[in-house]
Amino acid sequence: MAKKRIFSGMQPSGRFHMGNYQVLTNWIKLQEEYDCIFSIVDWHSLTSSYEDTSKLPERIETMALDWLSAGLDPEKNIIFVQSHVKEHAELHLLLSMMTPLSWLERVPTYKDKLQQLGEMGKEINTYGFLGYPELMTADIILYKANVVPVAEDQLPHLELSREIIRRFANLYKPVFPEPQPILSPLLPGIDGRKMSKSYGNEIPYAAEPDEISARVRLMVTDPQRVKKTDPGNPDICTVYTFHKIFSPEHNEITGHCRNASIGCVECKKRLAEKMIMTLADVHGRRREMAKNPEKIKELLAYGAERARKIAATTMEEVRSVMNLG
Ligand code: SF4
Repeated sequence: MAKKRIFSGMQPSGRFHMGNYQVLTNWIKLQEEYDCIFSIVDWHSLTSSYEDTSKLPERIETMALDWLSAGLDPEKNIIFVQSHVKEHAELHLLLSMMTPLSWLERVPTYKDKLQQLGEMGKEINTYGFLGYPELMTADIILYKANVVPVAEDQLPHLELSREIIRRFANLYKPVFPEPQPILSPLLPGIDGRKMSKSYGNEIPYAAEPDEISARVRLMVTDPQRVKKTDPGNPDICTVYTFHKIFSPEHNEITGHCRNASIGCVECKKRLAEKMIMTLADVHGRRREMAKNPEKIKELLAYGAERARKIAATTMEEVRSVMNLG
């Protein structure tokens, strides 16, 4: 039986942190089970940051290096840069003709982000920003993806994609499957909120051992656990959420925490050691790969070529059902 297809992407923002790394580790698991297409979505990064594009090529290369050194396989998956496959733009344009404006305006994150970015002094009242979910829909359906890994706050975007797909099918012909979400857990920041550079609660992916230890020491724990002899609850502890990603023996930690046989200081120390060890391997591979930027470019070109073949076939079908030449 053919594997189900996944599409997912990341913006080359130049601020890769441990939250992004966790998304990546999730993708690395998915690559064994699904037919995966992963894209560095550079056009998406312009929807909220279009003024200065001078660092974009460097950010794309950095992101490709991050992905490959973490273990994303360019043979098992299609890995490419969104703007290298122009069909994304064509499908985005066609979808924008048939999507009611009100559908885009009611996406819950739209107004929040508009306000948030406005407060940061960004002029973001643009079509591109409003049309972000439209471009995301084009990305997914261009490859007829069946499954999309999403964080909970992105579910309304995917629901909108499904509505657009249904509208397309009613107006023309059913061409696209309705993708199903698989929820990706999010790694919180050190204060327990969503990890974000704007909150200052992130752990940079490139952090050196001292910085990792210092950031882990600041992590919030179970607030009810005041003394070392108090039993803790790992389910509400940020440190434990990180242990689940970095410590294969995290189940032991659960027991030790619940019966108060480990203190939070020791628990954090063990986490920092695990993170430093894991990242040392990844950073070592990354340094090696960075010596050969041409190879990275070749791999992205290879990925774009494979993506383009699928995208071209889909667009032939789309043009045909829409009676376009
Ligand atoms: Fe969290 Fe570890 Fe302390 Fe338990 S022992 S509350 S898991 S830091």
